[in-house]
Amino acid sequence: VINRRLRRALEYRDRCCAVPGCSATAGLHAHHLRHWEDGGPTDLDNLVLLCPYHHRAHHRGTITITGPADRLVVTDRAGRPLTNRSLARPPTT
Ligand SMILES: [Zn+2]
Ligand SMILES: [Zn+2]
Repeated sequence: VINRRLRRALEYRDRCCAVPGCSATAGLHAHHLRHWEDGGPTDLDNLVLLCPYHHRAHHRGTITITGPADRLVVTDRAGRPLTNRSLARPPTT
């Protein structure tokens, strides 16, 4: 469970979805880089904000997100790192 102070600090740091090239700001989820079930701590270094689309993609295995949060590496299924110029999400109609 993320308390309000941590959530605010996280929103202040990340501002938008942590996936490069994605600037979604609405409905962001706090994601544990080391999954909470695996003993990942609930602190800023282990949390990133993800939009619902990328959060789902990560948990489905479509993208891989590796921390710590200040050196985040996001790769696609083929292991290619996503950059700001990547098309992080398909165009919506
Ligand atoms: Zn998650
Ligand atoms: Zn996103």
